[in-house]
Amino acid sequence: MTLKDPQKLLPSAIEDKWRIEEMILDIPPHGIPVHKKSLEKFYDTSQKNKNSIILQPSLAITSELGLPKYPTIAYLYPQEYIAKNLSSLSTTPTVIDLLDLDEKLHYFADHYGIAIKPQYVRAIVGNTCNLKCVMCPYHSPLIKPNHTTDFFQGNRAMSWEMMTKLAAECGQAGIAIMVGSLEEPLLHPKIVDFIQLCRQQGVPSIHMTTNGQLLDEEKAIALLAAGLTSIDISIDAFEVDTYKRIRGSNLHRVRANVLNFIQLRDRLGVPCNVRTSFVRNQGNSNDEEQAFQDYWLEKVDGVFMLNLAQYQETNMRLNQENQAVQDSIQYYRQKSQGRWPCMYPFTEVAVLPDGRIYYCIETLFRLGFDQEIESLGDYNKQTLQEIWSGDLFRALRRDLILNQLDNRPACKQCDMWMSQVKFQSVKEGIHRTTTNVTEIYQKI
Ligand code: SF4
Repeated sequence: MTLKDPQKLLPSAIEDKWRIEEMILDIPPHGIPVHKKSLEKFYDTSQKNKNSIILQPSLAITSELGLPKYPTIAYLYPQEYIAKNLSSLSTTPTVIDLLDLDEKLHYFADHYGIAIKPQYVRAIVGNTCNLKCVMCPYHSPLIKPNHTTDFFQGNRAMSWEMMTKLAAECGQAGIAIMVGSLEEPLLHPKIVDFIQLCRQQGVPSIHMTTNGQLLDEEKAIALLAAGLTSIDISIDAFEVDTYKRIRGSNLHRVRANVLNFIQLRDRLGVPCNVRTSFVRNQGNSNDEEQAFQDYWLEKVDGVFMLNLAQYQETNMRLNQENQAVQDSIQYYRQKSQGRWPCMYPFTEVAVLPDGRIYYCIETLFRLGFDQEIESLGDYNKQTLQEIWSGDLFRALRRDLILNQLDNRPACKQCDMWMSQVKFQSVKEGIHRTTTNVTEIYQKI
């Protein structure tokens, strides 16, 4: 047998037993050691099956729900394939993907951070907003007096030095960036420069969520020229009075800004996806929701409807859940005997302006209320890769896989992990994605 293992990732103790005539065992140099048990499974399969075999770990349910594919960490194929490109193998390989618990922890906790990069980074570029929407857990005058942390006090804009570091690291690794998760990003004086720098450095996409009040013509042209790839504008109302009641501001201005942004985008020929969003607030009628959808779907690329989430006791809770996904959620809950590992710490990372590292929207929701959430690193001192593959992320992923959450109250009381179940449909040129939190209508 020919062995290709340039990084010595095989467990050496069983190498000899493992030699199979006229086959090649190829261990790609990903830096992920092959677990001894996986190798034994590989060996057993090769005894029954003389075709090619690949080892590509998967995490039950979470992989089904969309966790990025783990790299193939071992190939076994006949020597006759030696001169060929592996991707052109003429027979379909047998895939070994089912793992015992210790293998799952080995691949999806201990080595996950080197196997798979984050899908996106939430760059939290500030802590302020120019609106004070009634339902906002961060800036609402009804909710802010109940904050128990000082995160939303004063003005904490992300420094240009930190922005430069993020642009360089995400550009080099090809990681998308999102701004506006809890702040109004157009308030940051360097936001256009940041977007431009990100694109120059190779960041594949940069998304902004904004309330659109500051999206005037000058800003729109600057953002499009800088290379913004998608924008969500939070509007939440179709009627002027509703907008005033919920957002306390002028609906006509944001509507004009969005329509002008689309015209400019089309005139300049910049590929920037534009969506408007609507939070289902208490007191909003179904008629208004429908009017919002009908109006905006004619004009923008997509419309995003969100069920109102409210901070109750210690976590965000939904007032209403979409029924289309409830059967699937129940199915997966039974299959996982409770809950499956939440996907967010496997797909995203949030960098706060002070360099702290959070790991999902739920931890961001709690920013005003919970001093205890552990930061998973310090972006002032570490690189993104060091944080992503570091001990604190590893420990969190391990606890999620083991469903061992007694010391993680944010996760223990959270429902957001269920939002990873999706229902998709297509009707009259509109692609609809439903989770228990959102409905997204996207033009095809
Ligand atoms: S379970 Fe909730 S708090 Fe924990 S990582 Fe997932 S979304 Fe965040």
